[in-house]
Amino acid sequence: MKYNLPDENGFFGEYGGSFIPEELQKIMNEINVEYNKARKDPEFQKELAYLYQHYVGRPSPLFHAQNLSKKYGAEIYLKREDLNHTGAHKINHCLGEVLLAKRLGKKKVIAETGAGQHGVALATAAALLGLECDIYMGEVDIAKEQPNVIRMKILGTTVVPVKSGQRTLKEAVDECFDAYVKDPVTQLYAIGSVVGPHPFPQMVRDFQSVVGTEVKSQFKTQTGQALPQNLVACVGGGSNAMGLFYPFIDDTSVNMYGVEPAGRGTAVGDHASTITYGKPGIIHGFKCYLLQDENGAPSSVYSVASGLDYPGVGPEHSNLKDIGRVNYFNITDKEAIDAFFELSRIEGIIPAIESSHAVAYAIKLAKQKPGESIVVNLSGRGDKDIDFVIDNYGKQYGIHR
Ligand SMILES: *Cc1c(COP(=O)(O)O)cnc(C)c1O
Repeated sequence: MKYNLPDENGFFGEYGGSFIPEELQKIMNEINVEYNKARKDPEFQKELAYLYQHYVGRPSPLFHAQNLSKKYGAEIYLKREDLNHTGAHKINHCLGEVLLAKRLGKKKVIAETGAGQHGVALATAAALLGLECDIYMGEVDIAKEQPNVIRMKILGTTVVPVKSGQRTLKEAVDECFDAYVKDPVTQLYAIGSVVGPHPFPQMVRDFQSVVGTEVKSQFKTQTGQALPQNLVACVGGGSNAMGLFYPFIDDTSVNMYGVEPAGRGTAVGDHASTITYGKPGIIHGFKCYLLQDENGAPSSVYSVASGLDYPGVGPEHSNLKDIGRVNYFNITDKEAIDAFFELSRIEGIIPAIESSHAVAYAIKLAKQKPGESIVVNLSGRGDKDIDFVIDNYGKQYGIHR
């Protein structure tokens, strides 16, 4: 039977759906109806394909990392999403969301951001396509992530400082949500991963699936083999992983591995391994595996990679875990930082710390499966991380400013 999820109510098995106030549900229904029209509209698809090719620079290369392959014993391929305009996979779904916002007659896109990666990608798409953009960001994150804050401002976006609570990502989500509820007619809340109420997990997956579709044809052209044996991607909310996995779900010979952040330990607040340690619950309007306390409130989370520290995870991943189609493992901060330097020094590619989690797991897998092919989604480039890495880990790797 062919995989065909979500169902018409946005469920992937028991996960997903839409658990939101009635007035927002009406708006989500409108978004869903318009998205389904856009999906089948050749003009919409043509415009998106044009932007992917000529603006983002797609198709991104599939690179056979021969040095890494020789050293660890498997054939490792890197899907170079780090080479996209703006440096990561996020631009793929931001362009889709902003095109849809225009189609819906919206004037503005809004979103929250933690480290600023989603904010910059959305600000970029909004600048290109002529919509206003407000990005909600905690004051603590604003102080920490100055280069991305400046980028957004240069791109013409308003960065709204969030002053409540811990002044980080969670409060930014809350405030952005409040702003959206106040005016869901002229604004679109452009969610940054395969999370949130239906239809966002489906929509973001569809926009990202260009990644897996390209890999399928590139792998065949380059190797003459029909399919890769293993796929590996890091999982925060899960958009880069779904983008790589989705086109291969019915190809049951392909093993798929999602890599969560194991952080610095197994205690609450020391990791963000949602699927590994969480249990089903509801967050931000959808059901998924969730790191939660005994009352169902989201736990605090941590990872060295700020793009991976979310207490929930995409509903589709939650279901793929339960049906056993994707395997989920985790990688510690230390293993990720080791992989960050290994890839930099052996292939001349500096990966994002998020992507370094996937590289670290691929290296482990290579040792277990000698000779097999492994495609890693290199979701982003590490330029944004170099100051942090050198300040915190430089000495251990013999680097001094
Ligand atoms: C945001 C981000 C991630 C995590 O998001 P997903 O939705 O899980 O893909 C991973 N890698 C990079 C480079 C990111 O910027």
